[in-house]
Amino acid sequence: MIPTAAYAATSAQSLLEPHTIERRDPGPHDVLIDILYCGICHSDIHQVRDEWGGSIYPMVPGHEIVGTAVKIGRHVTKWKIGDTVGVGYFVDSCKTCDACKDGEEQYCENGMVTTFNGRERDKQTPTYGGYSACITVNEDYVLRIPAGMPLERVAPLMCAGITTYSPLRHFGVKAGDIVAVVGLGGLGHMGVKLAKAMGAKVTVLSHSPGKCADALALGADDFIDTSEKNAFKINAARFDFILDTVSAKHDYNNYLNLLRRNGRMVLVGIPDPGRLSAASLVMQRRSLSGSLIGGIHEAQEMLDFCSEHEVVSDVEVIPIQKINEAYERVLKSDVHYRFVIDMASLKQPCSK
Ligand code: NAP
Ligand code: ZN
Repeated sequence: MIPTAAYAATSAQSLLEPHTIERRDPGPHDVLIDILYCGICHSDIHQVRDEWGGSIYPMVPGHEIVGTAVKIGRHVTKWKIGDTVGVGYFVDSCKTCDACKDGEEQYCENGMVTTFNGRERDKQTPTYGGYSACITVNEDYVLRIPAGMPLERVAPLMCAGITTYSPLRHFGVKAGDIVAVVGLGGLGHMGVKLAKAMGAKVTVLSHSPGKCADALALGADDFIDTSEKNAFKINAARFDFILDTVSAKHDYNNYLNLLRRNGRMVLVGIPDPGRLSAASLVMQRRSLSGSLIGGIHEAQEMLDFCSEHEVVSDVEVIPIQKINEAYERVLKSDVHYRFVIDMASLKQPCSK
């Protein structure tokens, strides 16, 4: 076992504090990764605070991991020591069900093994995430970071990037489509950049009027302040596709009414459920879908796409000691546009 420095929450009410966990020594198919950066996703906060139920404590969150391969299992063929690699929201799956065979491990019928707040396939061993010095991961769940990318700005691609890329691709968003992204946070700002890189016309729908200039600087063509009285009326039936990244409860019906005939809204944000009116869908034959992160193959495709189109996240790099402050700022929608932890601040490197 490898004693590993980390930050953990011990209950839904507690702050994140220094903690030591044990990582397994790399097995024949494992890679030990020295973590350089880890992004802070709102899903970390939902789970630390047990907003989805069933949280496992102590919890070491973090699933936007970038690091260096420092030890390699003897049967590993895909990786070598020194490779720059990434790990996202899951670290294992059954590999035998239809979803896994289709490369959509996130929908594994036997349950993916989440990077943190989950259990390994033995259904017992808890998983611990990226707010830590290192992590041991099966080689098939490791991603290759294309050369030359700024690593602190790549970390958020491991979740915010793939979670927005996957529905844009799956539902065939293409050049010229009229797209709205709801919520300009970690996922939202990646949604804007990726939809633009795919050639769509992109409007940001935000309840923070102060984000207008940033939205345009990130590449959006237009900005709608949803806190304005007539915002939903004026923009009715305007969009082909809406990507909803909002983390807090809001009225889906208002947003559905912004879709044109045959338009689709995809939920990626996971707040408390809201009320849904049938008429919001029936009128204009609209569709409502959801989407969960993305598979390993698609995540690699997304990284290569981002490298080719020079898409990276806008980040605020923090030392891990500022984690609790960062959480408070995320909850106030005051994040520009992803916090990323510089793991050197742990000052207890991976001990191999
Ligand atoms: P984030 O950085 O906090 O961004 C969420 C944004 O939602 C905020 O910046 C804000 O944007 C908007 N918002 C917040 N409160 C709102 C309210 N009361 N009304 C309207 N808009 C509000 O969070 P994130 O990391 O992007 O994650 C967003 C959501 O996606 C979370 O629920 C997270 O758990 C979920 N998620 C899902 C997946 C998946 O696979 N489906 C993956 C990762 C994360 P404005 O200030 O612009 O309004
Ligand atoms: Zn996430």
